[in-house]
Amino acid sequence: MIIYDQHVHTSFSFDSNEKMEDYMKLAGQDFVSTEHLEFNNPEVQNHDSIPDYTKYVAEIERLKKATGKRVHKGIEIGMSAGQADKIKDYLAHHTFDIKLLSFHQDGTKDFGSNMVSHLDPLQVTDQYYQLMWKGINEFHDADVLAHFDYGVRRLSLTSGQFSTTAGVLLTNIFKVAIQNNLAFELNTKSMYKYHNIGLYDYAIEIYKQLGGKRYTIGSDAHDATHYEDHFRDALDMLKAHDIHHINVYRQGAMTVVPIDDIPEDL
Ligand SMILES: [Zn+2]
Repeated sequence: MIIYDQHVHTSFSFDSNEKMEDYMKLAGQDFVSTEHLEFNNPEVQNHDSIPDYTKYVAEIERLKKATGKRVHKGIEIGMSAGQADKIKDYLAHHTFDIKLLSFHQDGTKDFGSNMVSHLDPLQVTDQYYQLMWKGINEFHDADVLAHFDYGVRRLSLTSGQFSTTAGVLLTNIFKVAIQNNLAFELNTKSMYKYHNIGLYDYAIEIYKQLGGKRYTIGSDAHDATHYEDHFRDALDMLKAHDIHHINVYRQGAMTVVPIDDIPEDL
């Protein structure tokens, strides 16, 4: 089985207008989208962003028939303080093949918004990982810890500044992630659009040395032009860290897929 993008947004997410069928032309035999679930979302005046599950499942069924491909259901769970019970209740009533766990916001601001770039970078970094530490202890029922660096995407930190400010917290966060079988996501948008490759080199080693063994690659595409963006680069990064597999999630099961034989032209 070949690997495929495991972090993708379509028009079922509040911040994407891309039709699922526009990705299908690019997808191999398998496709998954991971739509935003974000309660109290500051990006939309603190409304709840919830995918229309009934329409989502109907569109997946339609595309499965139309294309003959396997189309899986995914969600990107935005966890923030006080949301754990709402999230658990939602997940108790909606099934997914893959669940990403993300930390985007603090109730008043999304850390991806432009205004964050005007704040004190070390304060933002400390605040973000304090939130993640608290949040992952409250809720960790997911498959993947997505973009561990989301809160620092808008900042320019050296690896040294990052490790001094967030290294201990991130280590403790990864311990909880590993205890709960959460995979480490190589988020190629963070790595190549927001230039955080250095932070990924640093964090992969921590996750690995703590005993973490699960990895995914996700483009975080919000339109089809970014589908599987920089996948070859991310595979090469894994191999440079002596990691030779990817973990693939579907139908409640996890599969380990070797990556050494994946063709160069992926
Ligand atoms: Zn996200």
